[in-house]
Amino acid sequence: MSPVTESRTSPAATPGARLEFRALRRSFGSTTALDGLDLTVGPGELLALLGPSGCGKTTALRMVAGFERPDSGEVLVDGRDITDVPANRRDAGMVFQSYSLFPNLTVRDNVAFGMKVRKVPAARRHARAAELLELVGLPRHGDRYAHQLSGGQQQRVALARALALEPRLLLLDEPLSALDAQVRQSLREEIRRLQLSLGITTVFVTHDQEEALSMADRVAVLNAGRLEQCAAPAELYARPATPFVAGFVGTMNRLPGRTGGGLVDVAGHRLPVDGTAPTGPEVDVLLRPEDITVTADPAGTTRVLSASFLGAVTRVHLELADGARIRADLPSREAAPLAPGTRTTIGLSDRPVLVVPRSAA
Ligand code: ATP
Repeated sequence: MSPVTESRTSPAATPGARLEFRALRRSFGSTTALDGLDLTVGPGELLALLGPSGCGKTTALRMVAGFERPDSGEVLVDGRDITDVPANRRDAGMVFQSYSLFPNLTVRDNVAFGMKVRKVPAARRHARAAELLELVGLPRHGDRYAHQLSGGQQQRVALARALALEPRLLLLDEPLSALDAQVRQSLREEIRRLQLSLGITTVFVTHDQEEALSMADRVAVLNAGRLEQCAAPAELYARPATPFVAGFVGTMNRLPGRTGGGLVDVAGHRLPVDGTAPTGPEVDVLLRPEDITVTADPAGTTRVLSASFLGAVTRVHLELADGARIRADLPSREAAPLAPGTRTTIGLSDRPVLVVPRSAA
């Protein structure tokens, strides 16, 4: 995509809106899709809504777009309740998971469609469509039809169409999930670059944690219609606020431990506790695979079960003396000698560790 130079798409021309979800509730029959969602997205921020299938992500997004009404609660844009504003009057552009281009219109006319509905003069909308196609890296594709484009190109056109009316909110509902890994990766970066240069407030729905962590300013993790945690990616990874977030974001080992005096004994190590330990002494200790080292040791009590080569790192599955199983991520070079059955000892970094109540397992 080309850099944004045009004045109409400069940050000053399209400052992002402030979006607030307030106590949003929505049920479908006996299913509670949203169970009191409170969340604020700052102007120009990219917020990822992350969670497992059915947790209410799309329902929340559709409420901003105006395709769904809450049973109670409000959606505010710049402090104004927009619940009663019809979808076509909302200042939001949306891109869906399925390629939703009009098959009977050229790429140019797809991008210009919203402007035509709003009766923007033809010369102006053609110029604007050309400008947007340039922006999404498809300057020579205006005369094509959807079936003549790849999936990635179709999503770029959908993005251009969503931006055509210079909305102050961009809503993306799993826009990359139908694309192959390489296209997905490059479009992630391009969407982020574009979003930053336009300064447009963006809500990105995804169930892919890697996508959320790599793109977003903050990630809101939903579970069963409720917000579990909303934090910057690094914070979410380092300090999951709930056992659900710990298990959903990244990989987490959970081992039994015993607390005392601000320390916890786990797998033969004594480590400081991060934050306040739950009343113990029996707890579970949360350990990231990259915080575990593994050394081949014929006298060791830990045994290698299997190893999965992932490129730069190898994930080694181990069994401890008490039968507990853990996963460790090692640089692949270090993991090479660790064939299944190898006896090892494990080391833990002496950083403070998170502990959760044993009963929450
Ligand atoms: P996915 O990642 O699978 O798209 P999601 O997190 O976006 O899931 P939603 O689409 O918001 O989840 O749905 C939340 C819950 O509400 C689900 O249990 C879903 O089946 C239900 N639901 C959503 N829309 C409707 C509807 N129109 N009628 C009935 N149930 C619905």
